Amino acid sequence: MTAARDEGVALSQPLTQLRGVAARQAERLARLGLRTVMDLLFHLPLRYEDRTRLVPIGGLQPGQEALVRGHVDIAEVAPGRRRRLLCRISDGTGALTLVFFHFHPSQLKRLRQGVCLACYGEARRGAVGLEMVHPEHTIVASVEPADDETAQGLTPVYPSTEGLHQASLRGWIEQALLMAERGLHDVLQPHLDSDPLQPSLLQALKLVHAPPANVDREALIAGMHPAVQRLVLEELLAHHLSLRKLRLDARRGARAPVLRGTGRLVERFMARLDFSLTGAQQRVDGEVAADMASVAPMLRLVQGDVGSGKTVIAALAALRAVESGLQAAVMAPTELLAEQHFRNFRDWLAPLGIDVAWLSGKLKASVRREMLARVGDGRSGVVVGTHALFQEQVEFHRLGLVVVDEQHRFGVHQRLALREKGHSETAQPHQLIMTATPIPRTLAMTAYADLDVSVIDELPPGRTPVKTVAIPDTRRGDVVEAVAKACAEGRQAYWVCTLIEESDALQAQAAEDTAALLAEALPTLRVGLVHGRMKSADKESVMADFAAGDIKLLVATTVIEVGVNVPNASLMIIENPERLGLAQLHQLRGRVGRGSTASSCVLLYHPPLSETAQKRLGVLRRTGDGFEIARQDLEIRGPGELLGTRQTGAWALRVTDLVRDAALLPRVHAMADILLKREPLVAEALIRRWVGEAQRYGRV
Ligand code: ADP
Ligand code: MG
Repeated sequence: MTAARDEGVALSQPLTQLRGVAARQAERLARLGLRTVMDLLFHLPLRYEDRTRLVPIGGLQPGQEALVRGHVDIAEVAPGRRRRLLCRISDGTGALTLVFFHFHPSQLKRLRQGVCLACYGEARRGAVGLEMVHPEHTIVASVEPADDETAQGLTPVYPSTEGLHQASLRGWIEQALLMAERGLHDVLQPHLDSDPLQPSLLQALKLVHAPPANVDREALIAGMHPAVQRLVLEELLAHHLSLRKLRLDARRGARAPVLRGTGRLVERFMARLDFSLTGAQQRVDGEVAADMASVAPMLRLVQGDVGSGKTVIAALAALRAVESGLQAAVMAPTELLAEQHFRNFRDWLAPLGIDVAWLSGKLKASVRREMLARVGDGRSGVVVGTHALFQEQVEFHRLGLVVVDEQHRFGVHQRLALREKGHSETAQPHQLIMTATPIPRTLAMTAYADLDVSVIDELPPGRTPVKTVAIPDTRRGDVVEAVAKACAEGRQAYWVCTLIEESDALQAQAAEDTAALLAEALPTLRVGLVHGRMKSADKESVMADFAAGDIKLLVATTVIEVGVNVPNASLMIIENPERLGLAQLHQLRGRVGRGSTASSCVLLYHPPLSETAQKRLGVLRRTGDGFEIARQDLEIRGPGELLGTRQTGAWALRVTDLVRDAALLPRVHAMADILLKREPLVAEALIRRWVGEAQRYGRV
C-alpha cells in the first residue's frame, strides 16, 4: 500500500530533473506523452539495432540493417538536380556506396581515399550495387574492430519525435535507470501469492533498455525473453485493470430499472415467429434477460458471426422493456441499416400493438416533430434510428434499454458517450451492444473487459457455406456472363464497388458508372443502384424492389456492408476486394448465403496482388467462420487496426503482442481479480504507470 503511494516520489519528478533536459527538450518529450522520470523508464524500445556483429560487405542483403567496415576507395560530389556526396567503401569482400544528400564540404575532405569507416545503416539496391543512404558513420583505426568495440550489447531504438535524437533518449533513460535503482517499487510482487516473478521489474527494465552483450538476442527480438514477458505481464494487467475499473466505476451506485417483464409480449412474439431460436440464441437471450432483471445496469456485448441471428435477440430484449412499461431505443451505424431494422421491428412488433418510431438525421421537420412527440409522451414503445437518436434533443418518456447494433463502427468513445447520454435522474438504461464482426477471444477479453460478453456460436440451420473464388479482372466478361446466367435462373446478385477514397461522391460516381456499364451489358435485366449519396426514400425503394425480387442485380457501394438481409440474393461480386480489410470482406460476403440456395462470392481483383492482399483473399477463400477470420486478421493487421482506427491510440501497447502473448491472459485475469479485491491502490499505481494519466477512455 505504501509502495503504491510513494511510488516514484523520486521517479515522479519532471524530466527537467535529468541532466541535459531543458525546457525545450521537455516539451518535445511531452509530445511523446513523457512527463516524469517514471514515464521515461517505461518508454520501451521499438526494436534493436545489432551493432556488435560486423557484416562483411559482400554478405549484405538489400533491406538488411547492419554494421560494416571498409576503406574509402573514392569520394566525390555527384552533380545533378540534387547534389549528392557519394563515397564508395570496400572491405575485400565487396563494395558499398554511401549516399549523402545533406553534407558539409569538410566531409568530403575527411573521406580521403584509404580512410577506415565504420557505418551503420540499411543496405538497399542502388544504381550500381548496394548503397546506404545517410548511414551513421565514424572514422576508425582499422577495418578489424578492436575488442572493446564489439563488447557492447544491442542498441535500443525508441519511439521518438522530431528534434529528439536516439542518442539523447538513450542517455536520459540511462539516468532514469540509475534513479530507478533506488526509487522503483515492484508494486505487483508483494501482493501476489505466487512464486516471485522472474526477473524483477527493475532487472527486466534494465535488460530491455540496455541488453548486455551476452543476451539471448533471438529471444529478445522475438519478445520471448523473460524480461520482455515480465513487462508484458504488467502491461496486460494494467490495461485489463483499467477497463475493469471503468466498469466498476460505471456501475458503482448506478441503478437501472428492473425489467423483469411479464412474458406476455415475448410469448406472442415467439408464437408468430416463423422459426425457433437456436440453442445459442436461447442461451444468450437468457443471459440478457437475467441482466435486465437486475438493478445493476446491463453492459453486455453480444458477439455472433454474420447471420447468426442477433436482431431477434435485440427484439426480445426490447419486448421485455416494453412489457415492463419502459421504452427501448435501437441504434444502428448507417442510415440503410437503421431503416432495415426499423422495418424489421415494425413488422415484428406492430402486430403486437407496439408503436415503433423512426428517427434519423434526414427526416422532414414535420415528421420529426411527430416522432419526437410520440417518443416524448411514451406512445412509442420502441424507437429505431441512427446516432441522431442521441445527438439530438430527443426526450424519452422512460428509457429502459439501449441497443447498439454493429458496435465496432462506433468505437469505445461513443459507447461511453451513450452511457452518459442515457443517464436520467433516477436510473441509467440497460445497454446491449452487438458486434457486426466477431472479435478474437483474446482481444475481446482485453479490449472489452468493461463489458460482459455473450457469444452466439451457432448459425441457424439450413445455411449453406458461401463458395468463394478469386478471379482477376481480366476475366470480367466471364463474370458478367455468369451473373446474367444466375439471374436468368431466378437468383439475385449484388455487385459491390469499392474505392479507397473516403469520399461519398467518388464512391457514388464509381457505382453509377458500373451500374450503367452493367445495364448496357445486360439489357434484359433490371439493374438497381444504391449508394450513400441517394435520398433515403430512393434508397429504401430500391432496397424494397430488390427484396421483392423485382430488381435482380443490385449495384452498391459498401453501404450494404452491414446488416442488409435479402435471403434470395445468392451471388455477390466484389470488385477490387484487395482494397478492403478481412473483416469488411467477411461482412460483405455475409449478405449472401442467408437463404437455403447455394451461394457464391466472386472476388474480382485487380492483379498483381500484394502479399498481404493475397493472404487476406486466401483466408476468405478457405473459411467462412467469422471467428477464425478475425483471428487471422489479428495476425495480419494487429489489434489497433482491428478495433478501428479511432481506438488505435488506446491500443498503443508498448511491449505486448496480443497474438504472441495471448497465453498470459488467464494469469492476468486471475491477478486482476486479486488486486481489485485486495489492493485497489496497487491497481491504480499499475494503471498510472502503463496506461497513463489520460486514463485510457476517461474523457469522452
Ligand atoms: P445478424 O446476426 O447478422 O444480425 P440477423 O439477425 O440479420 O443476423 O439474422 C439473419 C437471418 O437469419 C434473418 O433473416 C433472420 O430472420 C434469420 N434467423 C435468425 N434466427 C434464426 C433462427 N433461429 N432460425 C432461422 N432463421 C433465423
Ligand atoms: Mg445484424
